[in-house]
Amino acid sequence: MPTRTFGVRYSDVSSTWKSYFDAGRSRWNSAGIGVDISKNPDTSSKITAGEYSGSWLGLYAPWETSTGKRVFTIRINSRTIAAHSGGNYGTWFMGTATHEFGHALSLDDDPRTTRPSLMHHSRDRNTVVRPTAYDKEEVLRIY
Ligand SMILES: [Zn+2]
Repeated sequence: MPTRTFGVRYSDVSSTWKSYFDAGRSRWNSAGIGVDISKNPDTSSKITAGEYSGSWLGLYAPWETSTGKRVFTIRINSRTIAAHSGGNYGTWFMGTATHEFGHALSLDDDPRTTRPSLMHHSRDRNTVVRPTAYDKEEVLRIY
């Protein structure tokens, strides 16, 4: 059973990237919808960043443990974010981390709504960088 309370381990990356991961967690934790994503070095779920060759900005890869617990790896692609963000690197990076944590909260890409959503691929990545009203309602609906 997925839950909106879970831990995530940070890989050994720069303090700047770690602060962006913190922002991604904080934007959900402070959304007032009962989400608690903690930083936990002893958990299986992990977030990392690097210069990956793929065209993607962020990747969310979930799997289930033998006990049925859902865990995940999130990867943030510094290379593509730097290439596409037009000087708004930090904004895009934090928004991408927040988007990927949205997947960990069971939100899918490109929801069937015309309302603003952090999960739309077509979102403005300079401004839609935290959970929207729609995203919060979805988390409350799911959990
Ligand atoms: Zn996505």
